Amino acid sequence: MFSYRHGFHAGNHADVLKHITLLSCLKLLHKKETPLMLVDTHAGAGLYDLQDRFAQTSLEANEGILQLTKNPSLFSANSDINDYFELILGLQSSPAIHIYPGSPYLLWRSMRALDKLRLMELHPSDFPVLKENMEQLKTKRQDIKLEMVDGFAMLKAYLPPPSRRGLVLIDPSYEDKGDYRAVLNTLEAAIARFATGIYCIWYPVLTRLDAKEFPNRLKKLCQELNLSWLKAELRIKPVIEDGLSASGMWIINPPWQLEESLESSLPLLQTLLQINASGSYLIETNSSF
Ligand code: SAM
Repeated sequence: MFSYRHGFHAGNHADVLKHITLLSCLKLLHKKETPLMLVDTHAGAGLYDLQDRFAQTSLEANEGILQLTKNPSLFSANSDINDYFELILGLQSSPAIHIYPGSPYLLWRSMRALDKLRLMELHPSDFPVLKENMEQLKTKRQDIKLEMVDGFAMLKAYLPPPSRRGLVLIDPSYEDKGDYRAVLNTLEAAIARFATGIYCIWYPVLTRLDAKEFPNRLKKLCQELNLSWLKAELRIKPVIEDGLSASGMWIINPPWQLEESLESSLPLLQTLLQINASGSYLIETNSSF
């Protein structure tokens, strides 16, 4: 269970898709002033050093964030990709990118004065790093709570949020095959308490049956509960035996205009990240905005 360390994967193509989609959702949600509860059930360490032994062993960022640095002029007109990139550049002490922000950092940067942030991370080594990172960032007035708990089990404790507005990121590693079922069970319990929440679920696109069936199961759940959904997937290379060539984000109750935002950023991400012209993307939704 504790073999997974996100440090091996930080800044890879899946993080790029996940983090740009997350920031796009937050940007759209911030158009309303009502406070938001932001929950990250699988937070990771918060910040990653792309020069450390984890990142240097896998070199996955080379096919993700570091690929974007090669062609910034290609996306400078797209505010979603550009804002994400500028935010990352702002973290660096030198022109080269060596620090990569995880979802807790991005959520923290997007917080407004009245928003609340709840971060959960179960790994006994990553939790103290997350705590140290967030303690350096957090100001006294910010309502942020970090817990070394099972995010699947703990989520419902925060729902519904007092303001009745909230975004939940569910981002397990799926190295434990039980994670697919756990996401569905967690969503059912969460939606029973807070049906209008925005739920962002990251998933790997793999040929293995449980992974392949997962988006269909999410769709069935949304249909049964009469919820709107949006699915965004990005492939950067053909299916490979060992490793990840594509991933997806499933958004329940997608914010208004998310589809338009992704219709503009995903084709660019395909162009920027694909290897040997073998990339693709797809966006599907049942929303009728
Ligand atoms: N959300 C992070 C980001 O985008 O930067 C990456 C998270 S990583 C994919 C998944 C994390 O979940 C790992 O750090 C792992 O230790 C943690 N984890 C695994 N099982 C968990 C559980 N039941 N509850 C909370 N965290 C868990």
